[in-house]
Amino acid sequence: MEFMPDFKLHRPDNIEDAVRLRAEEPDALFVAGGTDMIVNVRRGIEQPKHLIDITAIEELKSILPDGDGLHIGAGVSLKELQSDEDVLRDYPAVAEAARAVAGPTHQEYGTVGGNLCLDTRCLFYNQSEWWRQSNDYCLKERGDTCHVAPGGKRCFAAFSGDVAPSLLVYGAEIDVVGPNGRRRMPLTDLYRNDGMAHLTLEAGDMLTAVHLPKALAGSPSRYEKARVRGSIDFPLAGAAVRLETDGKTVKDFVVALTAVNPYPQIVKGTDAYVGRELTGEALDEIRELVRKQAKPMRTTTVAPWYRRRVVGALARRLTEELAG
Ligand SMILES: Cc1cc2nc3c(=O)[nH]c(=O)nc-3n(C[C@H](O)[C@H](O)[C@H](O)COP(=O)(O)OP(=O)(O)OC[C@H]3O[C@@H](n4cnc5c(N)ncnc54)[C@H](O)[C@@H]3O)c2cc1C
Ligand code: SF4
Repeated sequence: MEFMPDFKLHRPDNIEDAVRLRAEEPDALFVAGGTDMIVNVRRGIEQPKHLIDITAIEELKSILPDGDGLHIGAGVSLKELQSDEDVLRDYPAVAEAARAVAGPTHQEYGTVGGNLCLDTRCLFYNQSEWWRQSNDYCLKERGDTCHVAPGGKRCFAAFSGDVAPSLLVYGAEIDVVGPNGRRRMPLTDLYRNDGMAHLTLEAGDMLTAVHLPKALAGSPSRYEKARVRGSIDFPLAGAAVRLETDGKTVKDFVVALTAVNPYPQIVKGTDAYVGRELTGEALDEIRELVRKQAKPMRTTTVAPWYRRRVVGALARRLTEELAG
């Protein structure tokens, strides 16, 4: 680990000042709980000249039912998220995903916004400065070769946040405030399939809130991940499933994945199961559908083929459990 570098710390108490500061200082970065950012700074991966601590902004910290559903501020901690009554009752996979992040101390400080804006991860990137320097860095940071797919010009670092897929199965939207004002957009539009630039946020944009729709409140859901250390670890693969049935046939069915691509993704083709019974054969098909769309690369110590098998198995199991 490196020593903390010299940087100027700002602690605005409102969104407008935070966004203005970020826009004024091209080398500035937002920091919320700091549970990922500070590790990256100590590893020399991030070298901010200015850090904008957003934890004094009260407006980011509430979970409130509004006319359209549930508003979750970006500054809400994962601990609060997992124990909120509305979340537990109406959007259970979201609480389950928050409980699955790292360990209890990370959940105390880590925020919803930080989790959704988490940098992508790779075995060749999340290393100390001397390790990366000895290996000539890589495309994602200061180098010119991808060690996962040498010869290519793409980065396959995996998005490894736990909370995003649980929000995606509910069709969550997000509020973003930037130099050009406030806008709302689907959470899916926050991400792109590029490990080097997986967020579509413009310089100076801040994610301020997540909205879960009222129409889907109470729709049954689950989230589960596979990880090396059960007590504290990023997902090697994770799946969220939301399933409604009329007791026999499927009424609504969505699956979303994490850690098997540079972005959290909704599995395509699950609507084909609406009106069908979830027999053993249908569940096996779902497992294969998921495996085909997961494209893990050699970005962890665990082999891609294993992560692909696991993510299919997780989605199948959760679907079967929700089908009762
Ligand atoms: C040992 C260890 C294990 C971990 N295991 C997991 C795990 O299992 N699952 C998991 O999901 N995460 C894991 N993490 C990562 C991290 O703890 C969580 O993802 C946490 O939720 C990050 O939130 P934070 O508020 O601390 O983010 P920060 O570290 O403060 O920020 C993370 C990133 O988000 C940006 N950011 C923060 N808030 C905003 C905002 N409102 N708008 C725009 N950008 C913003 C920051 O600039 C930074 O780039 C782990 C970390 C460690 C050190
Ligand atoms: S996938 Fe390649 S470019 Fe991306 S972080 Fe890993 S080694 Fe670097």
